[in-house]
Amino acid sequence: MSLFRNLSIAALCLGLAGVAGAQKHNHQHAHVHGQMELTVAVDGPRLVIELASPLDSIVGFERAPKNDAEKKTVESALAKLRAADQLFAIDPAARCKAGDVDLRSAALGVGKAEPEAQAGHADLDATFTFECGDAAAARYIDVALFTAFKGARQIDAQIATSQGQFKRNLKRPTARLAWGK
Ligand SMILES: [Zn+2]
Repeated sequence: MSLFRNLSIAALCLGLAGVAGAQKHNHQHAHVHGQMELTVAVDGPRLVIELASPLDSIVGFERAPKNDAEKKTVESALAKLRAADQLFAIDPAARCKAGDVDLRSAALGVGKAEPEAQAGHADLDATFTFECGDAAAARYIDVALFTAFKGARQIDAQIATSQGQFKRNLKRPTARLAWGK
């Protein structure tokens, strides 16, 4: 399963990159432009959201900004990511407040990023921590990623809470990531 998955990811990246050498591939996450991966975990009083995205889905390119317009695009994207409470509206039953936001992108020189796994491509990873009155009560999150980032078309989500583990797939323009009863 995982070998097949890696092979198909490599095939996708080859198609996108069109560069020899892309077979050497050890991504943890799929790198498919337009797709983002979200992991939601409830851990005691905390709700933690991990985002892994091709940088392309967030700023429209996958390298350091080259001019003022691109620098503005990057600044604006990072500001949107830091405003976690605007990006993720968590079920009010959980009474969550946005806490730490950790952003990592080697191409942008942000955070403690891993080196890019594939030449010509770049990722942005983020961890959003929310402090909650009753984190386990959350049954949904309204995700504003499609509104914030025009390049995002699909979100593959995994949710792990005391109610169980769930996999969800959101396609633009659906915003609500819901689970449990
Ligand atoms: Zn890419």
